Amino acid sequence: MPIYEYRCGCGHTFELLVRPSSQTGACLACGGSEIERLLSLHSVRSDQTRSRAARDIRARNRATRTDQADAEARRIKAHSRDHDE
Ligand SMILES: [Zn+2]
Repeated sequence: MPIYEYRCGCGHTFELLVRPSSQTGACLACGGSEIERLLSLHSVRSDQTRSRAARDIRARNRATRTDQADAEARRIKAHSRDHDE
């Protein structure tokens, strides 16, 4: 069953589960039926999830590069220390 987001003339927006038997809903704030259907929440949410996942991957790549640089720095430091002793 699709969930849609609606905006009422009063400015209230709300999610509504659309059942095939009842096509119309009413505003949860004022009870009015002058509501306008907005974009499907499902598609909006998956778009947000996709861009968030892309950001996570970029952040993870940055973190991995930093970790590798740290490990390399530690290795070089340990190496030169071994030679000093
Ligand atoms: Zn309303």
